[in-house]
Amino acid sequence: MDDDNKYIYQTLSENFQKEAYSKDNSRGFELTALKAQYIKERLNEVFGIFDWEFEENFKTESNFILCHGRLTVTFKEQIRHVYATGGSQLKKSLADAYKGAATDSLSKAASFIGIDNDVFKGNINLNTVSETVKKDNRDVYGKCVLCDGNLYLARSGKSLYCERFKDESKGKHPYVEYTGQKPI
Ligand SMILES: [Zn+2]
Repeated sequence: MDDDNKYIYQTLSENFQKEAYSKDNSRGFELTALKAQYIKERLNEVFGIFDWEFEENFKTESNFILCHGRLTVTFKEQIRHVYATGGSQLKKSLADAYKGAATDSLSKAASFIGIDNDVFKGNINLNTVSETVKKDNRDVYGKCVLCDGNLYLARSGKSLYCERFKDESKGKHPYVEYTGQKPI
């Protein structure tokens, strides 16, 4: 691994705080699962908003929804595809079952590139996961024109992303290309 790849892997595999996890009973038994929004946030942080993509293909098998997902990440002109199948029991709502299957598929695919391996190794104990949000010491490269949030540099080095990208109540936060400017 060269230094860039090592840095990417370390960032992908950094621990999450407790609020990132939920109890998941969709397979008929209890599992600890990482919430999809935290996986997406990590992907944004590392690759930038437009340098990763998750495609979902659903299949229904009696009372079970399967999601065959494909996660594509781009880093330094290299494109990598990761395939993973997730599933969810159809219990209450169809929408919930689709969402559960998609999240399951995404989290498996993400684990293949280092995100939250611990859940899949069975190493997560929610009693010992940090309650505190990690101190934010990222450099700020500007302000989002939509929401005035801080812009951070994606680890890919190609784009900046808004700290509030998840909140789309004001609209889509614009893509900002990184052109070598210094932190403010
Ligand atoms: Zn914004």
